[in-house]
Amino acid sequence: MVWVGAGHPHETIAVPGVALADRDVLVAVELSTICGSDVHTVQGRRAAPTPLVLGHESVGRVIATGDAGADAVDGTPLRIGDRVVWSVTIACGSCDRCHRGLTQKCRTLGKYGHDRVGAHGDLTGAFGTHVQLRDGTAIVRVPESLSAAVLAPASCATATAWAAVTRAARDIELDGAVVRVHGAGLVGLSAAAIAAEHGAAVEVLDPDPQRRELATRFGAGRVDREPDVVIEASGHAVTEALAGVGVGGTVVLVGSVFPAEPVPVDAESLVRRLVTITGVHNYTARELADAVAFLAGRGRAYPFGEAVGSVRPLLDIDAALAAAAAPGAPLRIGLQPGR
Ligand SMILES: [Zn+2]
Ligand SMILES: [Zn+2]
Repeated sequence: MVWVGAGHPHETIAVPGVALADRDVLVAVELSTICGSDVHTVQGRRAAPTPLVLGHESVGRVIATGDAGADAVDGTPLRIGDRVVWSVTIACGSCDRCHRGLTQKCRTLGKYGHDRVGAHGDLTGAFGTHVQLRDGTAIVRVPESLSAAVLAPASCATATAWAAVTRAARDIELDGAVVRVHGAGLVGLSAAAIAAEHGAAVEVLDPDPQRRELATRFGAGRVDREPDVVIEASGHAVTEALAGVGVGGTVVLVGSVFPAEPVPVDAESLVRRLVTITGVHNYTARELADAVAFLAGRGRAYPFGEAVGSVRPLLDIDAALAAAAAPGAPLRIGLQPGR
């Protein structure tokens, strides 16, 4: 399903022949989910090249590989029929940033659901029946026992939340720490559950009482002191995040992925409180694999599957995007090919 610009319905294209490069993997999509950034794009609030196949949260099955075959993140060869999720980013693995471990900022970065159709083929986004995965994609095999609703958001929300919590854990021992999360979207809720599983006491702040209620099922509760870690997952509470963190604390900004007014910074206050501010965008291959392992393990205790409020046929994509943008929309709406 090709998006041609704001205000236009999606167009269906057929891709009759797919030429796989040596290490490419062709995946048949089982389920994709609509992320907030897809909504921002179709609303014209976020610059994107067109024509474009949107979508970067999916689970699918390997149906073909290039002549050289391809490996999962764990180093084992991928086989036809493997159920997988894959990274939003495609990294070269050899530039200075990739060598530093910043693969999500590769000098020649590709991104599923973000790159113009034609630049690297047509099957470049999740909102299609198939995706052509290129060399440099982190591909993670996933258990059959997890629902597609749990797995599809792994490659955006869950892995990003994992990266945000992991970043905080570099500064602060989370076991026994107090963690405040701003925003009870899927990144914030996931971060709450991950931090709680690391032994932190977690509170989630959100203007929506229903979302706050939901957060209690993702490990949030009351805390009795100022936070050691603040994870800003909404993009709307940066000022509050900086003001609220305790002495020696770390603020992880992860929700500011759309244009917004600059935020004033009280530098003296930050200095005197010994505050660390850091940004997290996307994640590494290892973080995606760890996020999937979390969903398959301790994460089963949390209601991740309920994030997908409805599943619609892929061909209903325009209505689904409109529903995802409506007030009171579920955390995610799924799109399923062949329905
Ligand atoms: Zn996303
Ligand atoms: Zn690179």
